[in-house]
Amino acid sequence: MNANLDVVPMQEWINTDGKPLIIAGPCSAETEEQVLETANRIKAEGYAHIMRAGVWKPRTRPGSFEGMGEAALPWLVEAKKQTGLPIAVEVATPEHIELSLKYGVDVLWIGARTTVNPFNVQEIADALKGVDVPVLVKNPVNPDLALWVGAFERLQGAGIKKLGAIHRGFSNAQETKYRNSPMWQIAVEMKRLFPQLPIIGDPSHMAGKRALLMELSQRILDLNYDGMIIETHRDPDQAWSDASQQLTPEALGEMLRELDVRKASYGADFTDELTALRAKIDNIDRELLEVLAARMSVVEKLGEYKRDNNVAVLQLDRWKQVHADRAGQAKGLGLYPEFVEELFKLVHLESIRKQTEVMNTSLA
Ligand code: PEP
Ligand code: MN
Repeated sequence: MNANLDVVPMQEWINTDGKPLIIAGPCSAETEEQVLETANRIKAEGYAHIMRAGVWKPRTRPGSFEGMGEAALPWLVEAKKQTGLPIAVEVATPEHIELSLKYGVDVLWIGARTTVNPFNVQEIADALKGVDVPVLVKNPVNPDLALWVGAFERLQGAGIKKLGAIHRGFSNAQETKYRNSPMWQIAVEMKRLFPQLPIIGDPSHMAGKRALLMELSQRILDLNYDGMIIETHRDPDQAWSDASQQLTPEALGEMLRELDVRKASYGADFTDELTALRAKIDNIDRELLEVLAARMSVVEKLGEYKRDNNVAVLQLDRWKQVHADRAGQAKGLGLYPEFVEELFKLVHLESIRKQTEVMNTSLA
């Protein structure tokens, strides 16, 4: 890909003393009390450089909480007054931008559901012409690097140079470990293309659940990201959006203290070709395993169905059909047929073992 971006170094618009940038705050601004209490508890912990809060919430399905809108902006202004933390909100339309700037929001970000749409991104870019505000762009929901790059090019076209990329992972067709699979190689490629563009990890939206935040955050730091954006709420279980992935400001502090932050002098392993290729392989392997695990959980359901309907585990016709079908697909993908044959023999054996296990459970 041939692209170039003129980017103002992050430290010129937010001073983090060389440490990774931490943007912390609730998924959504809900009430004035919730915003102010969360802000003050974040401030007391001392880790944050910027406070985030969603004011307009893009929800996958209607009927969920869609944000308090303009009414929440004065709460954020007050939070900033009380804590001194600059504030960041998500914008998706020219109107959001106009209002955010009117209230003095310091940093804007474009959400994953907006980055996918070039019409939206262009409207946002046009509304930002002549405005000197940092804009962070989340990766699009689908793993399309060009779409992500295109959003930066549109903003750059409007004269925005204080830019940063937020890697929040990519949505999945089937259920996997993560709410949004990281697919690290896409972020690695982004960094390779634009070494000067800060990259910020969003472990909250990758994880979808609290228990996975720590391992994702460590991985983000191990890859030398420039920072993280993490959701934190005064009472996570009662949050109006993304309850299961938020943690209290104090729990976030504890987690951040436990992470190993590499020294800046360690060197950017991101830009090292061999490391980048190995990182790609590691991540593809991880995804292979996740896909295999997803297959096995479907196999388990199939086993239960066969058990409950008294159908034998091994269905030879079906297996022959699977075999022929996969061999054909493999050929189309340029994979060595014998390799794929052996691989699927193993996968099939494991499926039979799993289903037999399910059958036997019923007898116990
Ligand atoms: C958010 O940051 O709360 C959000 C809606 O994230 P995303 O655009 O990554 O889904
Ligand atoms: Mn959220």
